[in-house]
Amino acid sequence: MLAWFDAHGRHDLPWQHPRTPYRVWISEIMLQQTQVNTVIPYFERFMQRFPDVHSLAAAAQDEVLALWSGLGYYARARNLHRAARHIVERHDGRFPTTLEAWLALPGIGRSTAGAILAQAFDQRQPILDGNVRRVLARYHAIDGWPGDRAVQDRLWQRAEAAMPHRRIADYTQAIMDLGATVCTRQPDCTRCPLAEGCRAHATGHPQAWPGRKPRKALPVRRTAMLILRDADGRILFERRPPAGIWGGLWSLPECPVNESVPRHCRERLGVDVDHLSAGATVRHTFSHFHLDIVPVHGRIGGASALREGGTHILSPPDEPPGGLPTPVRRLLRQP
Ligand code: SF4
Repeated sequence: MLAWFDAHGRHDLPWQHPRTPYRVWISEIMLQQTQVNTVIPYFERFMQRFPDVHSLAAAAQDEVLALWSGLGYYARARNLHRAARHIVERHDGRFPTTLEAWLALPGIGRSTAGAILAQAFDQRQPILDGNVRRVLARYHAIDGWPGDRAVQDRLWQRAEAAMPHRRIADYTQAIMDLGATVCTRQPDCTRCPLAEGCRAHATGHPQAWPGRKPRKALPVRRTAMLILRDADGRILFERRPPAGIWGGLWSLPECPVNESVPRHCRERLGVDVDHLSAGATVRHTFSHFHLDIVPVHGRIGGASALREGGTHILSPPDEPPGGLPTPVRRLLRQP
């Protein structure tokens, strides 16, 4: 890794020259959600205006936010400002040198604290930002989503075990660079110094790591769809409102599952129905919920006064008045 870093790593980042605790700290906070190339001009402007922790602590919050404007995630800037005041007031302007003291500052998590201590104080501290997680999950073929506690614990163990006993600052920059430039979403394993021992690479499909976030269990909604036939075998179709799910498509009239179908039909559709029977439930899945559709078959009574017009029409089932949603087509094909 270190040989690769010497040849291919990034050595010209502004916070590396000089690599002081203040500059490393500011850069690490800016880099938390933002790419290096975007951060560089912000970092340089910030350093011009606030060259040290005292000038930052003395500034008005509005001015700090103004210099942050465009970087997004403004809680980072507010926390940075609060942390600067904390360092000046409680540490006399000197930067902490222990993990615990850094973690006590607003906006500092374990990985950020580790990165600062490794790069600014040459302490053997592991880091586990998004890039490093990806490299380690692939190198060791660690299954599971890294947001999961157990997976994260395994990754931290690997991050600790991987630390060298010398040049820790360079190693920290090296593994971040590797994740940012080689072991990216689509890794370029031919350029990677870790390829020989990498278990994900050996499988031939390293992109399978790290594991994806498990999909949340979707809520289930239920509705009854009414397949109502008249004496000629025609079915009652209903046009859906223009906005919302299946907006503007033709569909079947619906009835809440806990309502009386005959009453609903009389009051809402102006038809009397009888001979009701329920068919097999059909599930349709949208991005944010499952819809369980209970088909209810029925016969439209002879004396009905259907309110036809723009939104309701009787048509043969194989000649619907327009486009139908997929699950409605499936329902109509049910025996
Ligand atoms: S060999 Fe490929 S998958 Fe493995 S760490 Fe290197 S770039 Fe990532």
